[in-house]
Amino acid sequence: LLPTLAIVGRPNVGKSTFVNRILGHRAAVVEDTPGVTRDRVFYEANWAGRDFMLVDTGGWEDRVAGIDHRVAEQAEAAIGLADAVVFIVDVHVGITTTDEQFVKVLRRSKKPVLLVANKVDDERAELEAASLWNLGLGEPHMVSALHGRGSGDVLDAVLEIL
Ligand code: GDP
Ligand code: MG
Repeated sequence: LLPTLAIVGRPNVGKSTFVNRILGHRAAVVEDTPGVTRDRVFYEANWAGRDFMLVDTGGWEDRVAGIDHRVAEQAEAAIGLADAVVFIVDVHVGITTTDEQFVKVLRRSKKPVLLVANKVDDERAELEAASLWNLGLGEPHMVSALHGRGSGDVLDAVLEIL
């Protein structure tokens, strides 16, 4: 049985783009419209000679009522079966109330969590990432899933907690 890494975060933060970056090809569906990934999608991945399962998540709408409940349910399901979790935040949006809900779920799970600040496409965005320390999840690992910036370092860090 391979160790499992869950990729969680609000719609549109770049989870599927990050998954494709890890896989090295476009398997996960990337959309400009939030809420496209319907369920949990599993992929077999390899990094630095280690095989593991990768779980892309989604499946809730950002704007409907009861968002806290839906997010908690979805995240808890993915987190529950994971050995480690990558929690992705959009550096340009910053911390939202939904992100704070995620943090509660992550805390309860007691699973190892790596915080990723995505969409850090340039040095200017690095300054914005500093505010993500406020989530209380430790260092925000700065990544541009789209361009590949920082993703290798994050995967090295992931292997240490997986
Ligand atoms: P998901 O809903 O969290 O799975 O997000 P997606 O992977 O579908 O990406 C949502 C949108 O964000 C798409 O338009 C992506 O191209 C864009 N995106 C993802 N990663 C980055 C990034 O590192 N930089 C920028 N500028 N855009 C990104
Ligand atoms: Mg997605």
